[in-house]
Amino acid sequence: MNKPGLIKKQILAMFFSRWRPYLLVVATMGWLLGCNYFNDDPPRRVILITMDTTRADHLSVYGYPFPTTPNLERIAQGGVRFDRSYVTVPWTGPSHISMLTGQFPRSFGAVDNMESVPPSVKPDNLGLWAQEHDLSSRAYLSCVHLHPKYLGIGGFDFVSAPDDDPDYRSGRKVIQPERKASDTTTRVVDWLENNYKEDYFLWVHYFDPHYQYLAPIPFIKKFIRGKAPRAADGRYRVVQERACSPDEVDFLTAQYDAEINYMDHWIGILYGKLEELYGKDMPLIIITADHGETLGELQQRHQYGFGHGLFLYDWEVRVPLIIRWDGHIPPNRVYSSPVQLTDIFPTVVDLLGDDPELPDVAGISLKKYLVNNEPIDNHPPIVIQRFTSERPFENRYLKGIYTALVEPPYKYIESPNLKTYELYHLPDDAAEVKNLVESRPDIVQPMSGRVKEWYKKYPFLVAPSQPVDKRKLDALKALGYIQ
Ligand SMILES: [Zn+2]
Repeated sequence: MNKPGLIKKQILAMFFSRWRPYLLVVATMGWLLGCNYFNDDPPRRVILITMDTTRADHLSVYGYPFPTTPNLERIAQGGVRFDRSYVTVPWTGPSHISMLTGQFPRSFGAVDNMESVPPSVKPDNLGLWAQEHDLSSRAYLSCVHLHPKYLGIGGFDFVSAPDDDPDYRSGRKVIQPERKASDTTTRVVDWLENNYKEDYFLWVHYFDPHYQYLAPIPFIKKFIRGKAPRAADGRYRVVQERACSPDEVDFLTAQYDAEINYMDHWIGILYGKLEELYGKDMPLIIITADHGETLGELQQRHQYGFGHGLFLYDWEVRVPLIIRWDGHIPPNRVYSSPVQLTDIFPTVVDLLGDDPELPDVAGISLKKYLVNNEPIDNHPPIVIQRFTSERPFENRYLKGIYTALVEPPYKYIESPNLKTYELYHLPDDAAEVKNLVESRPDIVQPMSGRVKEWYKKYPFLVAPSQPVDKRKLDALKALGYIQ
C-alpha cells in the first residue's frame, strides 16, 4: 500500500468513528438503492477476459438466434453491454496491444503479430498500472504469441502461456500452439482458490473460436444445421484462400458457433467460482474480443472464405464488450453508441485508480456512462486499420492500405492507393453490400477528411528494424528454452 493510500485510510477511520450513526443511515439508503456508494475504498480486483476471434453477432447475448452464450447473457444482465464496440485492427497481437495500452498499434509500429513494441518505447499499460498500485498482475494466455514479452509491453508479475513452437517466430512455419478453455480456466481457478483475497489484475485469454474450429464433439452436435459435408468428424479444416460450398460454409460456421459455446461454458465455470469466492463483493469484470471472423460472406466479392485480419467489415471488427462491477455499476443496460477497445485502459484506471489523472492515450474513459448513466458525447474518432497495412506484404488481398471510420449511421472504408471507396448505412445495410459512395458525396468527403486528420494525429512509428532471427532468440530466451 502506498503512503497516500495509508493516510487516506487513517483519515477515513477517524471520520467513521465520529459520524458512524449518520453514515449508517446513508449507507442503508445506498444499499436500498442497490448502489455501493459507501464503499469508498473497495478491493481492487480486475479481470479482463479476451475472447479471440469472437464476432459480436454470433453471440446470443448480442441477439444471435442460436444459444451460443447463455453464460455471457447471465453476466451481461448484471452489467453493461456495449452494442457497438470496435477493435483498432482485426489481428490478435496489435489488437491486444490496443486493449492493454489504450493506443493505436501504429503509434508503436507494431501492426502485425510478428512485430512488437520497440524496447525503447516502454508504453504505459494496464499491467504496469496494476503493479504501480500494488495489484498482483497476472496473465493466463491460450496462445503463445500473446506473451507480453512478444507484444513488447511490460507489467506482468506472472505469465502462463502455452509452450512456444521453435519455428513459429522464425516465420518458416505458422503454428499457433493453443491451450483449450478448460486448461486455461483450470489454471485461473487454481490460483484464485488460494489467492482470492489479494488485490489483482488478471488477464485471461481464450483462443478456442480461432481457426481451426475444433470444439469437443458434444458442442459441435448442438450447432450442426442442415446437411453435413464430407469430413463431418469435427476435423474439417479452414483454408482462407478457398471458396467453399454452401454446405461447407454451414458446417464450418456451426463448428465456429460450437467453439464459442464451448468457451462460454468455461467462462461460466470461472464466473461461478468467482461468485462462490466473493459473493456480492465481485471483481470488476471486462469481457471483450480482439477481432471477429469472416464466415464465408466474401466468397463472391473477394473469393475469400474464412479468417480475419484483411477486411474491415463489421463481422471482423465489431466485437462484444461487457463490463460488470456489482454494487458499483448499475446493471442491465445496453449502450448503443460506438466505443473502441482503446477505452478499456483509461476506463479501468478511472473506475479503480486513486489517481485523478488518467493516462494520456487514444481511448477515453467510459465511467461517465457506466456509473452515472451519462452519454459519452466526446468520443474520439473510431478508426480501424487492417493488419500490416503500413508495410509491403505479399498476399493477393493485401495490396493497399485500408482504413475504416465508424460514425453512425455510416461506416466509411477507403483505400486511396487502390482507389476503392465504400460507404454503408449500417442500420439499413448490416451486411455492408450497398455502397453509397456515388450517391452520398456529402457524407463521404467530410469522413475522408477526418481519416486524413487521424493519420496526421497518429503518425506511424518507424521502429528500428530487427532481424527475425534475433527476435526468435529473444522469444526463446523469454520462454526459457535457451539461456
Ligand atoms: Zn486473435
